[in-house]
Amino acid sequence: MKSFFKLPLHYQILIALIVGSILGMLLKPPVATPGDIDGKVTVANGDYVLEETGPNGRSYFTRTIKATPEEADKQMAELERRFAAVAEVIKANPGQSAYTYDVTDPSVQLITERGGITIRYVRDQEGKQAITNIKAGSPEELAEKYPGWMDFYNRESDDWRHMLIFIAKAVGDIFLNLLKMVTIPLIVTSLISGVTGLGSSSQLGRMFGKTLLYYLCTSILAIATGVLMVNLINPGEGAILPGGGEVVAGQEESLGGVFLGLVDQLIPTNIVHALSAANFLSIIFFSILFGVFTIYAGGETAAFITKMVNAGFEVMMRMTMAIIHLAPIGVLAFMYYATATQGLDIFITLSWYMLTVFLALLVHAAVVLPLILKFVAKTSPLAFAQAMSPALMTAFSTASSNATLPLTITSVEQRAGVSNKVSSFVLPLGATINMDGTALYEAVAVLFIAQATPGIDLSLADQILVAITALLASVGAAGIPHAGLVMMAIVLQAVGLPLEAQGIIIAVDRVLDMCRTTVNVWSDSCGCAVIDRIEKTGSDSAGEAVLIAET
Ligand code: ASP
Repeated sequence: MKSFFKLPLHYQILIALIVGSILGMLLKPPVATPGDIDGKVTVANGDYVLEETGPNGRSYFTRTIKATPEEADKQMAELERRFAAVAEVIKANPGQSAYTYDVTDPSVQLITERGGITIRYVRDQEGKQAITNIKAGSPEELAEKYPGWMDFYNRESDDWRHMLIFIAKAVGDIFLNLLKMVTIPLIVTSLISGVTGLGSSSQLGRMFGKTLLYYLCTSILAIATGVLMVNLINPGEGAILPGGGEVVAGQEESLGGVFLGLVDQLIPTNIVHALSAANFLSIIFFSILFGVFTIYAGGETAAFITKMVNAGFEVMMRMTMAIIHLAPIGVLAFMYYATATQGLDIFITLSWYMLTVFLALLVHAAVVLPLILKFVAKTSPLAFAQAMSPALMTAFSTASSNATLPLTITSVEQRAGVSNKVSSFVLPLGATINMDGTALYEAVAVLFIAQATPGIDLSLADQILVAITALLASVGAAGIPHAGLVMMAIVLQAVGLPLEAQGIIIAVDRVLDMCRTTVNVWSDSCGCAVIDRIEKTGSDSAGEAVLIAET
């Protein structure tokens, strides 16, 4: 044990990551099989109402396929696509008002965590798994909304593995909360100290331009990689998208609305509120202005503020470094939680889709960004990745760029040797608006949904629209888990796709979120190396110019 703590931090985190995943696979909550399930279809007013009930009379699954009478063919086509066995039974004896059909081997799994209960009902559908999630916030809510499930919940929730998941999530949350605690004071002190350290606002303006250019270029490259990969692999062909899934918030969003929302967020009407609401963009904007006007104020005021903020920054860095030593425990807890609660069955259903996202992310992170590192930043990608590994692994296990920010800042500065002037500026802004992984993911997911939705064929113009909205959605997404999924509504709407399609991909969102967040943090870090390099060569040549002028 003692020697474990002597290992370098990134190895400790790596071991925690692996051990956590193995434990998660071994110590999963048990999967119950409810026994014989009867499937029944009732035809009422032209709607098909599917219901699957267990031997105990409990209803496991219900779904209504609605259509107007003139769409009767479409309705049957929908049944054929999603519930072929049901369609067959109806076609064999048309005109009846009720039918029965066979349901094969369903399994039910309970997942409990603080603030949420999920009952996952998985059954086979034409060789593919179909999943229905029943969700409630508390046992009381479950009893009220789904009373039929209470005995299952009472029986299953006694299992010790549920307790273990509960504890793991709670421990992971403590680590996450500690990180969140330092994030805001760290950004504020780091940004002001960085800006005042630049010494002039024109230098800031130049760096700002270069940073935005980097964000834009890499996000576009990421989206292009994603679009290319979807068109190569075609993951949506033949996939079953069970409709009627849950719709995640965000359907009110429009393209212009998102943009104006960003501008609104940028200027806080009440900075105290912005701080307490952890509104990153407002905090960044105000801190930069504060730094710039400190430079303008000059003299004793500037000296005083700079000294105070630098002192504050140093303390925050120390506090962060201390918390970071807990990362292996936090990562272990999160990895256990993630693997124990995500059933393998879901991965199989959506394996082609997931593979497309993985491969595209991999190409961007392991080919495109390293090339930029090598040729623009003139840095060894491997050495840089190793320096950033504590941050990358934390991003992977927490799926939050914001929560990882303290580690990103410390890794970039202490392990990769990038100056605070650059990192304090590039990283906090990047955590909010530069999300290569998210942009790529939005594009892939939406094109996948389009491929899997019958009757939809996206033209080149539509694909370009997807790419542009995906970029905007990634800028608008917050650096918190599942933010990308919420923002997807605007991309789906832009090309007229059903929002319900999100329902199916929610199931695997956590894993993909972990991967895209890692890429988001990796791109921000590479941005630091690039801007640092450009700044250094810029100031070297400026130095030369002075020398030439003197001689
Ligand atoms: N979780 C991601 C992040 O924090 C955002 C997303 O959901 O794509 O970077």
